[in-house]
Amino acid sequence: MRGVVMYGPGDVRVEEREDPRIVEPTDAIIRLTATCICGSDLWPYRGAEPVDHQVMGHEYVGVVEEVGADVRTIRVGDFVVGSFWASDNTCEICRAGYQAYCPHRVLMGTLGTQSERARVPLADGTLVATPGMPEPDLIPSLMAASDVLGTGWFAAVAAQAGPGRTVAVVGDGAVGLLGVLAARQLGAERVIAFSRHPDRQALARDFGATDIVEERGDAGVARIQELTGGLGAHSVIEAVGTQEAMMQAIRSARPGGHVGFVGVSHDVAVPGDELFMAGVHLHGGPAPVRQYLPELIRLIWDRTIDPGKVFDLTLPLDRAADGYRAMDRRTATKVLLTL
Ligand SMILES: [Zn+2]
Repeated sequence: MRGVVMYGPGDVRVEEREDPRIVEPTDAIIRLTATCICGSDLWPYRGAEPVDHQVMGHEYVGVVEEVGADVRTIRVGDFVVGSFWASDNTCEICRAGYQAYCPHRVLMGTLGTQSERARVPLADGTLVATPGMPEPDLIPSLMAASDVLGTGWFAAVAAQAGPGRTVAVVGDGAVGLLGVLAARQLGAERVIAFSRHPDRQALARDFGATDIVEERGDAGVARIQELTGGLGAHSVIEAVGTQEAMMQAIRSARPGGHVGFVGVSHDVAVPGDELFMAGVHLHGGPAPVRQYLPELIRLIWDRTIDPGKVFDLTLPLDRAADGYRAMDRRTATKVLLTL
């Protein structure tokens, strides 16, 4: 089968990879309908993480082709969505809603889903079947549920976005934009998006942002203070993962407020004295997307939400290298790869 391999920073190739096969009796093999490139794939692409002939991709939707002997609920022919962590969904951690931390978890990125087919471990726990074969126009939104929507949703929940609350969103990539959507769906009264890109500002407004702040860093924090009567936001979503973004998020929250941080942390060091004096709740990390998949699929199936709008470039899998280049140069927010 064809699949993406990152030979080294900036060097992405689509080449023949070995076909996946059932290894454990709890595995399923899926034929991908679509896959995509994640903002986190840019860290190794830019040399910020080591990479050497790594198979790529952790987001996936597709049709089940084969199941192992112990798979009970997922069937051949099902159209399925899964998260970037495979998880059993039965252990104590999973049942508490933290499937990304399942003791049996498998990181899908190590299996590489930017490919024609993929092995999905713990299929019954990991995969959620849609009510039927989706209309083609629903594919991008279901694809978004696999990671960026689920991650934005977790960030909004962790930040306790809800009725009567003002939510600030740091980061205007796909996760930040879908954090805006999630915050509004969860009932937030006001959603302030930090963004200085006109196209992303427009999408943020489309997803429900009520205010846009172009300033960043301490100037951005000052704008949040102005917009919230000097108090700060009740809820802040951090969807970048840099020092500046994390401090901007913590400083934008009011005392007693909540910060949901889901940007993959790179060299972030939070000063203890400032954290001590801030009096804010911090919760984040790899999102337990699996927890939200049934609800997100229902909202997409009912056409209540349209998160697929974050994909602003669609390419065939064979042109994945062009997709990486476009995201690296920020000419695309999020790239959908079709098969
Ligand atoms: Zn588990």
